[in-house]
Amino acid sequence: MPDRLSESSDERSDQQVVIKVAVAVPLRRLFDYLVPASLPVPQSGCRVNVQFGSRTMTGLVIDVCDSSLLDKEKLKAVKEVLDSEPLLDNQHLQFLSWVADYYLHPAGEVFLSALPKLLRKGKPLRAAEHPYWKITSSGIEELKQGPGRAVVQHHLLQILSEAQQAVGPESLKIASRSWKTAISALYRKGLVERVKEPADYEQHSLPAFKATKDQQHAIESILAGLNSFKCFLLFGITGSGKTEVYLRCIAEVLTNRQQALVLVPEISLTPQLVSRFRQRFNEVIDVLHSGMSDSQRMQAWNRARQGESSILIGTRSAILVPLARPGIIIIDEEHDSSFKQQDGFRYHARDVAIKRASMEAIPVVMGSATPSLESWHNTQQNRFNLLTLEQRATAGGLPDIHLIDVEKQPLENGISIPLREGVRKCFKQGEQSLLFINRRGFAPAVCCTSCNKLIQCSRCDARMTWHRKEGRLVCHHCGRTGRWPDHCPACDGEELVTIGQGTENIHQTIQQMVPKASIERIDRDTTRRKGELEERLQRAHSGEAEVLVGTQMLSKGHDFPNLSLVGILDSDQLLFSSDFRSNERLFQLITQVAGRAGRADKRGVVLVQTRFPDSPWLQAIAKHDYRGFANMALEERKQANYPPFTHIALLRAEAVKQHEALKFLDVMHQQAKSLIASNAQMQSVSLSEPVASVMEKRAGRYRAQLLVQAATRKPLHVFLHQWRSVLETARQSRHVRWSLDVDPVDLY
Ligand code: ADP
Ligand code: ZN
Repeated sequence: MPDRLSESSDERSDQQVVIKVAVAVPLRRLFDYLVPASLPVPQSGCRVNVQFGSRTMTGLVIDVCDSSLLDKEKLKAVKEVLDSEPLLDNQHLQFLSWVADYYLHPAGEVFLSALPKLLRKGKPLRAAEHPYWKITSSGIEELKQGPGRAVVQHHLLQILSEAQQAVGPESLKIASRSWKTAISALYRKGLVERVKEPADYEQHSLPAFKATKDQQHAIESILAGLNSFKCFLLFGITGSGKTEVYLRCIAEVLTNRQQALVLVPEISLTPQLVSRFRQRFNEVIDVLHSGMSDSQRMQAWNRARQGESSILIGTRSAILVPLARPGIIIIDEEHDSSFKQQDGFRYHARDVAIKRASMEAIPVVMGSATPSLESWHNTQQNRFNLLTLEQRATAGGLPDIHLIDVEKQPLENGISIPLREGVRKCFKQGEQSLLFINRRGFAPAVCCTSCNKLIQCSRCDARMTWHRKEGRLVCHHCGRTGRWPDHCPACDGEELVTIGQGTENIHQTIQQMVPKASIERIDRDTTRRKGELEERLQRAHSGEAEVLVGTQMLSKGHDFPNLSLVGILDSDQLLFSSDFRSNERLFQLITQVAGRAGRADKRGVVLVQTRFPDSPWLQAIAKHDYRGFANMALEERKQANYPPFTHIALLRAEAVKQHEALKFLDVMHQQAKSLIASNAQMQSVSLSEPVASVMEKRAGRYRAQLLVQAATRKPLHVFLHQWRSVLETARQSRHVRWSLDVDPVDLY
């Protein structure tokens, strides 16, 4: 690409340059603008400010050309060129353009989502000066004197002395809200200093232990694939040493002066993973997480782009961050549904990562104890290389999973006798137990004793949940709240009672059972305040909390060294969900929760309460038989024509008026049928009838959907592209909100 910036403006006075600009608006096209002679011609990948409708917007230049299909006279001029150097290189632009195309999402929104917020808003790219802190030798001396009156200062010194490298603001914030004042005081006293990069002391340390044979095989296979595109599925139970495999492969990648990108489901739930990376490598490691300020995000993004950082750890959206010299992509817990964005730009970070790795010619390593059926199927088809870690790396075997038949073992407040006894026994022995229930609040329903009707949300086809501590009813789908009614809204009956249990209720029951125990409830309600989740997990981890009660949040990443009993209270909910992935989720969930138990020297026990102990799914789970489970589940998918045996897309629609969404889908269904009939390439595409969603009304809108399936990808995409144009121009869509979801993870 010629360096157009150096062209003098005289030379171009008569030949005006046209640029194609991506703007974050919900349209699939790029927009042409003229570059006036007074401005330098921006290269593709630079930002510009342009007039868009009545607004000024920041856009990204995708292409620079001499002509436009539109009348040049009518084109508007660029207002401002914001960058003299491209922020994204051509290869990255191509990658993003593929993503936009694949998910049929407006290009501008996709391109701009690869930039951090400040840059999207047109702010200048500024590199940070010296954002990291490190303890000095006088600081270490001071620490030995004990806390004294300056508690926060002392705490900060402690954090700094325990860290293997200099520490950024994210970690210091944890100490106190007034950390900034405290660190300035320490700085003035010469007890800490500022440095540019986090890592500048201590060499990275290989652990003393040797890799197991399985690990060695996995590491060698992955390293043999460096500098070429290859997909690896690293299948190993929790504690089998997958992270150790990532670390050793990354060490090699760093030696080659390349970068590693590590995707994780949720960073706040896996702080241990990040600290293991930090302990191991004497390199710049950036972590993108929700607790960061916009400016910190921009810095981390820029360090990755410039190649100043060696490792970038982040959630889903990190897959869009540019890297100067990518060497490997790692996806931990590849089956996790958080990798799929469920609204707006609906992409799947794992699938996008595979495409990116192929474009960059680097390997991608996906790790899981319970791989997604898609990935497992890919290993069966030899598209992915399967690497297996058969045993736990350390002592302590897998927990024993027992199914408790609750038809025979009556429940009292949701907890069966064996589980009650188990919790009591654990407490006596000074061991920790965990009760898992995937429902927050006190009770999932409130019922009238005279007419037996449940209190419903007025905006959703859903029941209201009783939150006793807050003293209100809450709808978990739209957030609507209400007071406990004096009378039944249906029959005016006076007696209303709660039905079923949520975390709050279980907490109370356990407290009555073992009054002396310290119980930690971990769910979205108890972790709303910033830093609260970390505090609670810390108490759970240290063993200070003797019984844990929680939702999904407790199932991930964390190992609790003293945990020996896990109770799963409501597995049947998933067993009978209408979602085609529900049995896969059940397997993942129980295995993950079970994986928290008995990691060190103790063998853990897991008690699963169910009304269906003979279910083959639960039987496979109890035997830790992933392979058996996967065979069964894949067979079921095959019979039902679901992925990975077909490719699917879902058109969702919602409208304020009932039937409107369905009517819209009926029309689109007709249009789709004639499209398919008219094009030989699309013959294999099949359409289901439009149907109302399982929960038809949600947040005051009525919802419906239409499923599209095809045995191969190509015809599906040819069809979707044409259909999308029909959708965009449909007259009927005025009162309807619709969205297309390519490879949806759930069909609601
Ligand atoms: P996973 O990621 O599969 O859960 P980890 O890599 O976290 O497993 O390993 C579990 C524990 O075993 C960690 O404490 C780790 O340091 C240790 N470990 C891993 N590999 C080995 C090994 N080869 N020998 C001894 N300990 C190991
Ligand atoms: Zn609601």
